[in-house]
Amino acid sequence: MGEGIALEITDLQASVEGKQILRGVTLRVGPGEVHALMGPNGSGKSTLANTLAGHPRYEVTGGTARMGDQDVFAMSPDERARAGLFLAFQYPIEVPGVTVANFIHSALKARGVALPFVQFRKRLLEKIALLEWDENVAKRYLNEGFSGGERKRNEILQMGMLEPRIAVMDETDSGLDVDSIKVVSNGVNALRGPNLGVLVITHYERILRYIQPDFVHVMWQGRIVFSGGRELVDRIEKDGYDWIKAEGWADAAAHAASGPAEAAAGKTGGR
Ligand code: ADP
Ligand code: MG
Repeated sequence: MGEGIALEITDLQASVEGKQILRGVTLRVGPGEVHALMGPNGSGKSTLANTLAGHPRYEVTGGTARMGDQDVFAMSPDERARAGLFLAFQYPIEVPGVTVANFIHSALKARGVALPFVQFRKRLLEKIALLEWDENVAKRYLNEGFSGGERKRNEILQMGMLEPRIAVMDETDSGLDVDSIKVVSNGVNALRGPNLGVLVITHYERILRYIQPDFVHVMWQGRIVFSGGRELVDRIEKDGYDWIKAEGWADAAAHAASGPAEAAAGKTGGR
């Protein structure tokens, strides 16, 4: 996809079904950087991913997101993908009747990349091998009968083939055993490079033992309440998230319009 670009999210606010979830998220993922976004369940991590993806149920109520000089929210989801935004979802969907190879080939074509079949096949098989996978997967229907680990491998396979400039991976590690986490992480690490910016969203620190992030952010109640490096991962591994709720609170409360009452009521939501 050519040169890298930055994803710049500024004071992003978003709601789901009239409920304000993102309350001012500011985050810049530069080219070549790997950022980890952590946080307790229900803090808004998936909402951020879905909002960037342009999911119709998520409404942007304030702030901006830019990719290079392009306004993300002015683009259709399709245009976002063509601009180089890739999202790996927490729950990849099944597409019966469409093979993995066909799906990726169509996605490339939609982005204006017309690879001759022989080249396409060669690249696809290379990436499949990188993920320590059987090449027959290319002929299987997308995600149909795939195990959790295979679904996540498949997301990384798509990412490797589409060569995005910004990749947002929502809980790619959830439900995976350690071996699958290693394989998926190796795949991501192989794709790291100066032209790719990555946002790894995860509740657990486990995957971050294999994917070393350059920057770490902690989200809580729809805001990033801590940013730093590796030490944040270590603290979460050691202490969990309770300290965020105590220490992060002062910061969050200072910005909240309606936050305190809600937080005091312990509303941290579902996943
Ligand atoms: P995380 O990914 O950090 O666990 P989410 O973004 O999934 O958090 O959820 C944040 C809050 O938004 C939760 O209170 C959740 O119930 C709510 N939420 C997220 N998506 C939806 C949806 N599609 N419909 C209704 N509520 C939602
Ligand atoms: Mg989530």
